[in-house]
Amino acid sequence: MRHPLVPLGALAGAAALLATGCSTAPSPAGGQPPAAASRAAAAPVVAPKSPAEVGANELGQVPVLMYHQLTEKPASVYDRTPADFRAELERLAREDYVPVTARDFQTGRIDIPAGTHPVVLTFDDSTNSQVRLGADGAPAPDTAVAILAETAKKHPAFKPVATFFVNADAFSATGSAKALTWLKDHGYEVANHTGRHENLHSLDRAGAERAISAGQQAIERAAPGTRVTSLALPFGAMPEPAGTAVRGTGYHYDGVYLVGANPSVSPFAKGFTPGAIPRIRSAGPKDEDAEFGSSRWLDKLAAGHSRYVSDGDPATVAFPRAAQNELAPAFAQRARPY
Ligand SMILES: [Zn+2]
Repeated sequence: MRHPLVPLGALAGAAALLATGCSTAPSPAGGQPPAAASRAAAAPVVAPKSPAEVGANELGQVPVLMYHQLTEKPASVYDRTPADFRAELERLAREDYVPVTARDFQTGRIDIPAGTHPVVLTFDDSTNSQVRLGADGAPAPDTAVAILAETAKKHPAFKPVATFFVNADAFSATGSAKALTWLKDHGYEVANHTGRHENLHSLDRAGAERAISAGQQAIERAAPGTRVTSLALPFGAMPEPAGTAVRGTGYHYDGVYLVGANPSVSPFAKGFTPGAIPRIRSAGPKDEDAEFGSSRWLDKLAAGHSRYVSDGDPATVAFPRAAQNELAPAFAQRARPY
């Protein structure tokens, strides 16, 4: 379903209301007792690089990419071909991005190697091109989950994790119970995109709450035990009041996702808006509205100095000392400026 690009500025007011906020160096074998030397040989480990050596910046920007359907014949700016998708994942792997789920991103559980960058891969509308399981229970060729698995196999540092924002009756070709359970069992995040893809801005508060609750309940019925902690707004449309998207009867989200059109700031930065997290539409460099799309944004992130770079230690928040003012006070105890 189509999502108009929503300028972030239009939502900034609402967002502001919600903002909260061992390894050891290998020793030379010479001079060591044989047992120690053989242990060192059996388990070679590399000295961790310092935050400065890897240029760590855990207050930098993170691309949250948004996908809809994969099709050989794109009919809108939201469609991509399986080959486009595969090429984008290859690029991300080559440029040292490591996927994390929306849930882990928005709560600051970013456990990726030193020098790498987090990317959040998100899929909306629970289309069959994202998840379709064959009779053998394995993902059908050219589905998003099949391409993710193939990319991860080729690039072992690239984790096949993503967030699927689903509606009721998700993944109809497979059936929602089977598809959602498969996703949950394979480390993917299943998250809410409302029951019937309602425009929440067009509903009154009670209506918006019902639409969100319906999506939540559909997931819980299909895959009991799923912990649903993230919501993507259909059409990027924010309900009134905006807090309805975060909390209501039967739901409470720690991340609410928009549609356009720029990277998110780090979850450790003062400017992070968990109630209105921007996303970037997957797009080629020459597609319509390419300046808001993933290809151009990945170019800009690679060229600039504001990209999130991990220090490899999920317990600390490392950044150049000059960025100190950007740190959210809630993370002061974990700060590792250099
Ligand atoms: Zn949608």
